[in-house]
Amino acid sequence: MDDSSLIAELESAVPKEREALVEVLTPLMEFDRRKLYAEEGFYSLFLYCTRALGYSEQAAFQRTATARTARSFPQVLELLQSGALHMNAVVMLAPYLMEDNCRTLFTLAQGKSRRELEFFLAGISPRPDKPDYIRPISASCAPCAEAAADPRESPVERPAQSLIEPASSCRVRFAFTGSETLLRKIERAKQLLRHKHPDGSLERIIEESVDMLLDKQDPERRILRKALRPEHPNGVVSGRTKPTDSGRLVRDIPQQVKDAVWQRDGGCCAFIGPDGKRCAERGMLEYDHIRPYSMGGASDDPANIRLLCRTHNQMFARRMFGEQAGDPRTIRD
Ligand SMILES: [Zn+2]
Repeated sequence: MDDSSLIAELESAVPKEREALVEVLTPLMEFDRRKLYAEEGFYSLFLYCTRALGYSEQAAFQRTATARTARSFPQVLELLQSGALHMNAVVMLAPYLMEDNCRTLFTLAQGKSRRELEFFLAGISPRPDKPDYIRPISASCAPCAEAAADPRESPVERPAQSLIEPASSCRVRFAFTGSETLLRKIERAKQLLRHKHPDGSLERIIEESVDMLLDKQDPERRILRKALRPEHPNGVVSGRTKPTDSGRLVRDIPQQVKDAVWQRDGGCCAFIGPDGKRCAERGMLEYDHIRPYSMGGASDDPANIRLLCRTHNQMFARRMFGEQAGDPRTIRD
């Protein structure tokens, strides 16, 4: 193949690639709208894209963020297909887009490099907060890791762990934007803990605060504490607890039932996807009545309670009670 044929072949392949991208994004938008990732056993669209579709985290993040943007601003698909905008530009523009400025922003962003777009967007107000990022660094290379951190990473569907690289003897750098109220609270915590941490190290103050929170909120810690007690008269619930004196059903799930369910389900969402794989979500967990309380399901029987992530709890609520029930404000069981 001579040089000119090679160039012609390359140049004709690029539009096909853009077209293929739009062919992926279009069903992805509808898949997201129907929340089918939940039916397939995943907590989020991002996880579905990485684990089921095999995209890299960066590719999944770009497609997820772009599909979400295109749901609100469908002209994005045309701009991508024509090559006027690339996905990176769409992701960068997303936090700034509104009905009354989208046309201008799409026009002004065309043909700009990432750096040019950064400068362009920096001039637009109000500027969104910098997203949180957590990045491991070795003690010896703090400055270069700081320089490498990208403060413009969009937070859309990007789990923090995607920025954590496996490391054994590393330290981790935390950075986030918070309110002035939070700053005052941290300053106050420093004052209260000064006798213990006279240097006011943020790391120690925050670690101590998080420990206090976990002692109070983490079922695993509570179960461990209970197990370490020399005697615990109630023991671990293995069956149904006693009904209330009046024999009425009670909506609130007793703590000992919650603990038993947490242990049985291993602190993880219990939903099993159609391929037999269990949802791996360990955050945003909720206790779900398998037979809803409103239909007579017991709250005091561990066999009727399961752990579900919010996505799957809402999915079951939608299946049972219709679309409205999937709204977190209306979810009841
Ligand atoms: Zn789940």
